[in-house]
Amino acid sequence: MPPRTGPLLLAGGGHAHLAVLAALARGERPRAEVSLVVPDPLQIYSGMVPGWMTGHYTLDECTIDLRELARRAGVRLMLDAVTGIDANRRRIELAGGDALDYALLSLDLGSQTAGLGALGSSDRPLLPIRPLREFVVHWRQLLARAVATPRFHLVVVGAGAAGVEVAFAAHHAFAARAHGASVTLVGSAAGLLPGHAPAVARRVETLLGEHRIRCVRAAATGASGGLLLETGERLAADAIVATTGAAPPAWLRGSGLALGAAGFVAVGADHASVSHPEVFAAGDVCERDDVLLPRAGVHAVRAGPVLAHNLLARLAGKPTLRYTPRARSLYLLATGPRHAVLSWGSLCVAGRAPWYWKDRIDRRYVRRHGSRAPGTLERTP
Ligand SMILES: Cc1cc2nc3c(=O)[nH]c(=O)nc-3n(C[C@H](O)[C@H](O)[C@H](O)COP(=O)(O)OP(=O)(O)OC[C@H]3O[C@@H](n4cnc5c(N)ncnc54)[C@H](O)[C@@H]3O)c2cc1C
Repeated sequence: MPPRTGPLLLAGGGHAHLAVLAALARGERPRAEVSLVVPDPLQIYSGMVPGWMTGHYTLDECTIDLRELARRAGVRLMLDAVTGIDANRRRIELAGGDALDYALLSLDLGSQTAGLGALGSSDRPLLPIRPLREFVVHWRQLLARAVATPRFHLVVVGAGAAGVEVAFAAHHAFAARAHGASVTLVGSAAGLLPGHAPAVARRVETLLGEHRIRCVRAAATGASGGLLLETGERLAADAIVATTGAAPPAWLRGSGLALGAAGFVAVGADHASVSHPEVFAAGDVCERDDVLLPRAGVHAVRAGPVLAHNLLARLAGKPTLRYTPRARSLYLLATGPRHAVLSWGSLCVAGRAPWYWKDRIDRRYVRRHGSRAPGTLERTP
């Protein structure tokens, strides 16, 4: 039996930490007290949010209850947000004013919406996609405004996978409830769906056209009445949704941890910090030093079991494992009511079958982690 160590602290309830909690619940127990720090016990699963906007799911069906997972895993749950790390003193600071010391720290606390500074100068309501809990509240208010405002115009800025899905979901939500409302999707010069095959981008562009969702390829900044495009065009908007990519939490800069080029925690193949081996990070918050990984849930999910193994191995003084990403990742992009586009390398398949596949995968993922008791989140404002 390994000696009892100081506390293991899990910060954030992201996809990789769900795998850690699942491993602990299965009985893979460390000889250490384990705590989980999250600001919100209800984890909304991002992959199902566009389906919720379209009307396929209730919010409860897209939500994982971390309280129940933590209970099953024998983990102490602390409802608070990390606001700083002093990696040299092995200490985290919390929004509530407390500080916690750790022997081993694991970070899976996601990312923030990038590029809000440039859009913030607009006088129109701006909804960042993250945090998701705030987005879902503001989306409901936006939808009510769209219903009440003739010819309401929403601009979605950011044409990666999340922006595409949100633009289609908004269009279909408007079609059902806010007749006359329209959606424009704005991507930078990098174009539609950077990182996906040209055939996927072309298929999605055709679908956008078929649904009369205008797609603009130009960088946008906030302006009076909406946005100013780099082409000089002024784009009027009643509201703007920012799906402009991922930014690291600002407080990482003062943490003492080595950071990668994009400002996220620099980790090796075993997801340990390259500067502080007692700190691990997975999901959006980390940046591998050996391979460029897109900030996608699929990597947070797949790195999870490796992270779980490595945390227990580090506590027991055993060797860690590498997370080796597959050469190609499968993406299923929701593009409307029971319609999706499958993107896998150069393969592109659009239709109902990819949607039913995505629906099955997503529902199974949430169910596996114990979807929450129905009703409560639906009633929250
Ligand atoms: C609309 C949308 C659709 C998407 N669809 C897909 C998809 O289909 N496929 C795909 O691969 N990717 C998709 N993504 C990207 C995917 O959501 C992210 O890459 C993924 O969620 C990252 O997971 P994570 O584990 O890093 O953190 P997250 O899932 O973002 O979880 C972060 C956790 O940390 C907590 N937290 C946040 N701040 C703090 C703090 N200060 N202190 C403590 N805890 C904190 C949060 O409460 C949460 O529990 C989508 C993103 C969006 C926005």
